[in-house]
Amino acid sequence: MQAINGDYTGKDILATSQFTTHDIDILFAEANRIRTKIERGEVLTSLQGQIIANLFYEPSTRTASSFVAAAQRLGGGIIPISDVHYSSVSKGENLPDTVRTLEQYADVIILRHSEQGQAGVAAAAAKKPIINAGDGAGEHPTQALLDLYTILRECGRVHDLTVTMVGDLKYGRTVHSLVRLLAMYGVKINYVAPDSLRMPPQLVYELASRGLQQHETTDLESVLADTDVLYVTRVQKERFKSEKEYLAVKGSYILTPEIMTRASRSMIVMHPLPRVDEIDPGVDSDPRAVYFWQVENGLYLRAALLSLVLGKAGARA
Ligand code: ASP
Repeated sequence: MQAINGDYTGKDILATSQFTTHDIDILFAEANRIRTKIERGEVLTSLQGQIIANLFYEPSTRTASSFVAAAQRLGGGIIPISDVHYSSVSKGENLPDTVRTLEQYADVIILRHSEQGQAGVAAAAAKKPIINAGDGAGEHPTQALLDLYTILRECGRVHDLTVTMVGDLKYGRTVHSLVRLLAMYGVKINYVAPDSLRMPPQLVYELASRGLQQHETTDLESVLADTDVLYVTRVQKERFKSEKEYLAVKGSYILTPEIMTRASRSMIVMHPLPRVDEIDPGVDSDPRAVYFWQVENGLYLRAALLSLVLGKAGARA
């Protein structure tokens, strides 16, 4: 896996370990540049002549459509394969053959897969860049980058914040990626999960050796008042071996307007979405709920990432 090292051009984006804070600064600057232009109503053309293939082996609403929107906002074309059952995958084609085919048409391939590590398999097979849009319970680097971008925009800084992650920390790939990015910024992390859905011990150990302050508890209220960013996650039903196991932990944490009265006035509530029942819709009107702004930020972040990987960042638009 190649480090970004200040230059995104032609590189696969597979995991958060490829990034330094400098690489992230470059990405966020490009996202801000694109945001300003789109907000001004400018028509952008920097990806004209470029084709993006969206190859999704698992359901997606936000990731898939934000990559489509990002490509189209910048004048690029898109090959959308959102249901692989209608592609040759249903005839038994393997992932390397599928990506070797798509790269004959496209300049970059966005891949979501249900198995951890498959983004790396695709990257080894393809000459064109692969962007990991979620690989099983592994990583979801573009979500983590847009989450970090949201924290920075909403809180004005990342350093010194206390971030509390709640829900399914075992299978949730977004928290696996986000905590690795946050570890570069001197934050304090609380993990709130039922015993069976704790953050993988190996990851906790790895981050502790990098100096990250981490605290694990099953009691949300014990850490709520000191939390700056509350990152709520869905219990990942599709990763459980049985319905019974899922039902035993479903609904373990439900954020309600009543619980919000005990949180700091400046705390923000984030969620990668989709939500099932872990945030009561009554919280949506609370100004601290930023999950739909998070969705919007995903558009600018992914537009910036496409521009950088395709060598078109800062291009005249
Ligand atoms: N949309 C996010 C993901 O693909 C979060 C979730 O599904 O719960 O990982």
